Amino acid sequence: MSESKINISKTESSRLSEIDFDNLPFGKFFSDHMFQADYEDGEWKDFRIAPLENLSIHPGNLAWHYGQSIFEGMKASKSKDGIPMLFRPEEHIYRLNASARRMCMPEFPEEMFIEAVHTLVEMEQGWIPPQEGAALYLRPLMIAMDEALGVRPSAKYKFMIMTLPVGPYYAQPVSLLAEETYIRAAKGGVGEAKTAGNYAGSLYPARLAKEAGYDQIMWLDAKEFKYIQEVGTMNIFFVIGDKIITPETTGTILKGITRNTAIEILNFNGYQVEERPISIDEVVKAHNEGLLKEVFGTGTAAVIAKVSKIAYRGNDMVLSGGSEIGDMIKKTINGLRLGTEIDHWNWTVAAKGSQVIV
Ligand SMILES: *Cc1c(COP(=O)(O)O)cnc(C)c1O
Repeated sequence: MSESKINISKTESSRLSEIDFDNLPFGKFFSDHMFQADYEDGEWKDFRIAPLENLSIHPGNLAWHYGQSIFEGMKASKSKDGIPMLFRPEEHIYRLNASARRMCMPEFPEEMFIEAVHTLVEMEQGWIPPQEGAALYLRPLMIAMDEALGVRPSAKYKFMIMTLPVGPYYAQPVSLLAEETYIRAAKGGVGEAKTAGNYAGSLYPARLAKEAGYDQIMWLDAKEFKYIQEVGTMNIFFVIGDKIITPETTGTILKGITRNTAIEILNFNGYQVEERPISIDEVVKAHNEGLLKEVFGTGTAAVIAKVSKIAYRGNDMVLSGGSEIGDMIKKTINGLRLGTEIDHWNWTVAAKGSQVIV
């Protein structure tokens, strides 16, 4: 048994009793504790779990001015036997560190991330809502901490993990607007990094899309506005005839873990998934020929979001078809989290406190 390097101090007044698990707007309520670590003099130190607190940050903080800020989003849930479970946690630290490299930030030690996530989720397990599909959302965040202006990589950083109880996401089917003026990511840019600026840049076009009556933007490539990238903060899948197609990830698309999970589940069930460029013209043609059977988004928050229509150049393509494939993936993922589906992939792992990690 290894000694934990995480210093733990517990709150003396839990806020848990104030939470109504039947009324949990996404992102609003934070659990009692958070994990923190600081990067100074070339190393990560001071690993600690303590009551959630405000940070005192200098106005010259580099993250605020120049955007060195990366994050992750993952979920812990309870199995049918009440055991707190994590889902593919290692994939999130691999991706966080990929984002860190792109943004010229220090990687965070993988084992410490895993230990932090296990320890925090075990401590906060009372905050995991009991309903099926509800979860404790984990938000890892790394920000620059230098306090001197100048466009350069910071020498100091802070890493945190917050946790938030979130209700089941009963997503209404979403309507999409294929966007031909604004872009999310260009080749060579930072589209593959989960970094703050990508989301800031999407807000204005997203508002215009909302005003035009659509829920989310379907992003097209930055060069020709021809190839589909992703939707809002989800990856996208198309079922055309008997083919399942999703855009390949070649730098401009966020490498969704749910995207990968969906592909693995589909393969296991005997479906082939084509990962390749898919143009908006191909989708329009398939729709005109009656072959566009299903379109859905994938992401940690919604798991699977069915698409009801796609607008392109003033025409609405209404998807009246089923949701057979998307439903199957969603049912499998929820079942894996609950422990009612056999986990052929070893994706689920019980959260255990740091004492039992060897
Ligand atoms: C986080 C995110 C996704 C989905 O990734 P998951 O790992 O499946 O949650 C897709 N697109 C964008 C832009 C994202 O930020």
